[in-house]
Order: sequence, then C-alpha cells, then structure tokens
Amino acid sequence: MRWPFDDSYARDLTGLYADVSPTPVAEPRLLALNEPLAADLGLDVPALRTPDGVPVLAGNAVPEESHPIAEAYAGHQFGQFAGVLGDGRAVLLGELADTTGTRRDLALKGSGRTPFSRGGDGRAAIGPVLREYLVSEAMHALGIPTTRSLAAVATGEVVLRQPPEPGAVLTRVASSHLRVGTFELVRVTGDPEHVRRLAAYARERHFPDIATYDEDPLALLSAVAEQQASLIAQWLAVGFIHGVMNTDNMAISGETIDYGPCAFLEAHDPHAVFSSIDGQGRYRYGAQPSIAAWNLARLAECLIAPLGEDGGPVAVEDATQRLHAFVEQVRAEHSDLMIRKIGLAERAEGDEELVADLLTRMEKDRLDHTLTFRRLARVLRGEAEAARGHALDLAAWDEWQERWLTRVGGSAEERTATAEAMDAINPLYIPRNHLVEEALEAARKDDLEPFEALLAAVRDPFTERPGLERYAEPAPAGFIDTYRTFCGT
Ligand code: AMP
Ligand code: MG
Repeated sequence: MRWPFDDSYARDLTGLYADVSPTPVAEPRLLALNEPLAADLGLDVPALRTPDGVPVLAGNAVPEESHPIAEAYAGHQFGQFAGVLGDGRAVLLGELADTTGTRRDLALKGSGRTPFSRGGDGRAAIGPVLREYLVSEAMHALGIPTTRSLAAVATGEVVLRQPPEPGAVLTRVASSHLRVGTFELVRVTGDPEHVRRLAAYARERHFPDIATYDEDPLALLSAVAEQQASLIAQWLAVGFIHGVMNTDNMAISGETIDYGPCAFLEAHDPHAVFSSIDGQGRYRYGAQPSIAAWNLARLAECLIAPLGEDGGPVAVEDATQRLHAFVEQVRAEHSDLMIRKIGLAERAEGDEELVADLLTRMEKDRLDHTLTFRRLARVLRGEAEAARGHALDLAAWDEWQERWLTRVGGSAEERTATAEAMDAINPLYIPRNHLVEEALEAARKDDLEPFEALLAAVRDPFTERPGLERYAEPAPAGFIDTYRTFCGT
C-alpha cells in the first residue's frame, strides 16, 4: 500500500531528532483499527488490515516513503528541569495530509529503543496502549482537541512491568508532536538561531496567520496560550484530569497529548488526583489552569532568551501580561461552558454565582461530575427528584434548584427544549476508570469484547441508548478511594 509521507520536521529541524527505525516485534496482531480516522488520512483502509498494512503498524516494516525519526525534546517534570528527554519509545514515520489538507504526524509508540531511551526498554504494554486508544477517542467524541489513535497492535512479546504484561504498539496521529519541551531543548543549545528556526516551523505548521518571530517574538506564546486556554477550559468542564502535565507533555498545537495517568472525575472534586506518582497533587484537577500557565511561562522564557539584554526585560513584562490574559481566558471560557451546561443559552447577572454554588454543592455532597448535568436536564423534563435524590444536604440543594429553575424559566415545552440542548453537550458516557480497568483486564487475557463495547459507548457520548445503562453508572462504592493510575510505561 502507498503511504504518501512527507518529512518536513526532519527537513527543517536538523539536530532536533535522531534517525532510528522501529524494532520489529515477534508476532504482530491487529487489536484495533480506527477506520474513520484512516479514511480521514487518505489511507487504504482495507489494506491496513492485510500483511501489507499490519507490519507497518507494528514497526516490522517501514514504508519506502518513510524517513523514520525519534524527535528530541527536553522538559520540566514535576517542576524540575529534566534535561534532554526525547522519544524514548516512539518513532515518527512521517506526515500525511488529511482530507482537509492538514498535515498530521503518524507515529508509533512502543516501537523499541531509540537514542533517547535512557534506561527504558522502548516498549509499551497492552494496558496503557488500549487506555490511550480509548480515552483519546472518547476525548475526540467529546469535541475536545486531542491526538488520535489509528491502531493498536499486539506484539506477541512480553514487556517487563510489575507484573509482566503483553506488549503492544500504538499508532498515534497528532497535528504535530512539537511540545513546550521542544523549545526548552533548543533554548539550552544557547544558539538564538535555533529558537528562531523552531518558532518559524511551529508558526508555519500551526499558526500561519500570526506575526513572525522577528515582528513579535511573543506572538507564538499568545497563539499557543489561546489554544491551551480553550483546551484546559474544556478539560475542566468535562472533568478530565491529565495527570502528568509536564512541559514535554504539552503540545504546541493545543491538542491533549500523552494519555498516561489521566482519569475522569467521578464525584466533583477540585483536589482529585489519581496518578500514583503525583503524591503532592501538583497535577490535581483544579490546579490545571495554573499548571498550564506555569508551562507557558517556560515557553515564554525560551522565546525571550534570544532577545538578550536589549529586548529581554521588555519582553518579560509583555509575557507576564499575556500569561494573565491566558488565566483570564481559561476562567472566562470555563465559565461560559458551565453556564451552557446548566442550560443557560446566554449569560446574565448572577449566573457565575449560580454555577459556583452548584459546584460547591457537587463537591460537598460528592455528586457525580458527569451525571449531575444529565439529572438537571431530567428535572427540566418534570422529574422533580432526579437530581435531588442524590443530594445529601437537601435544604441546600432545594435552595439551589429553586434558584436555578427560576433562572431557566420558560414553559414546560421550552424546558424540554432546554433539556435537549443540555443533553447535546453534557455527556452520559465517559471512559470511567472502573470500566477502563475492566476492559484492559479482559484485553490482557485476549478478550477484546469489553474494550470494543466501551469504545462504542464513549464514541457517541451524548445519545442515551438502551442496553448501555452500566456505562452510565458511577464507579462502585469505594473504587475511587483507592484507585491509582500509572504513567504509561
Ligand atoms: P512520558 O511519561 O510518557 O511522558 O515519558 C517521559 C519520557 O520517558 C519520554 O522521554 C519517554 O520517551 C520516556 N519513556 C517512557 N517510557 C519509556 C520506555 N518504556 N522506554 C524508553 N523510554 C521511555
Ligand atoms: Mg510524554
């Protein structure tokens, strides 16, 4: 089959990658193929399932049009500069123009060691691979910018994890793999030309309409910040916790990237942390806006560094303003989304307080972040107890619900229409942690049925369907208290 790859990254960014081919695996077997995405990428969908396609998705064959590389990047991990990281277990096969003409990276993850592997084996286990597949596809269905998953292939090998697990390779599609950490790497080279070159590449690829670096060195910062602000606002609205927002895991494109220890909230909780390696709660749900701002400040430093003593101090002031604008944009967009989630088409005086008070109720009474909004829609359809039935402090709930109903107003008919509008933006099916774990556990034993069923549920998150009741239910009591997620290693 034909793979019409381009390699603009390799052409334009010499020094920022290593040439490396994927390491073949013992016995490739296709676990999942994202046919709609393959079609979007202009690939020959039936051929992908054949001995022409599967070996490429496993890293056992490299198409002749491909120039395989591992990208280099640096990064701050948990607040500390970690130096050079780079793709330690990923290989970029090339770039494809999708049906809209947009350039997209196609990369294998878990495809063997690279010069950036350090102590790692370069491999991925089936659990984290299918987890990324599920959650990234769920995010896409929710309308949230994200890298996508084209395929998952079992390797027929065992990877040494605690406990040992079957190996797998994920094919990841991204509008690029440029990260804040890519800029941090060029910054440490100390050559201002390198920053300029990377900024020019990022601009051309993602923000062709903004000022050039020479016209405005911080234009890229503003553009990235704007995308990130929308992204974080959407994470908050849907209850997503990324879990490991290191600067090497923040994409310049504004896509959600690197599904390691991510999780969705069950009960609403600003302090929620699931990652086993985040003991301090640095990347807790409610901290995501400030952490994103911190990461953007690292990007700002990289863009300012080449300006030297002449332009630097002014640019620092300027960057500070732009980061304030970022924080304000997250707040405003999050607030807009929440106001829409409770069925208000247009913002009025007092709406922000109404949302804030609801979130307080949800936190205090440990109400489900996802289902509360579906229950409110049912209240509008005349089921007075639909939400109240879950509250602990009934008096406080009734007070809030009365205020909300008064604000919504409208006839019974209008309220039904509002309920429909709410259901169209408030998901019913999300990849809940207990469901994800159940699907992965079965997949480790060669049963892909639960994975496929959950994937089908979360790919259409807003439409209630008979037979899917269990996919809409909160985790069993106690599950979340001890639930921990692990980095996808
Ligand atoms: P992550 O936590 O996935 O963002 O990875 C952080 C860094 O560790 C990146 O440089 C990865 O490429 C590298 N890494 C993670 N897992 C492995 C592995 N199994 N083998 C080699 N490198 C890895
Ligand atoms: Mg990463």
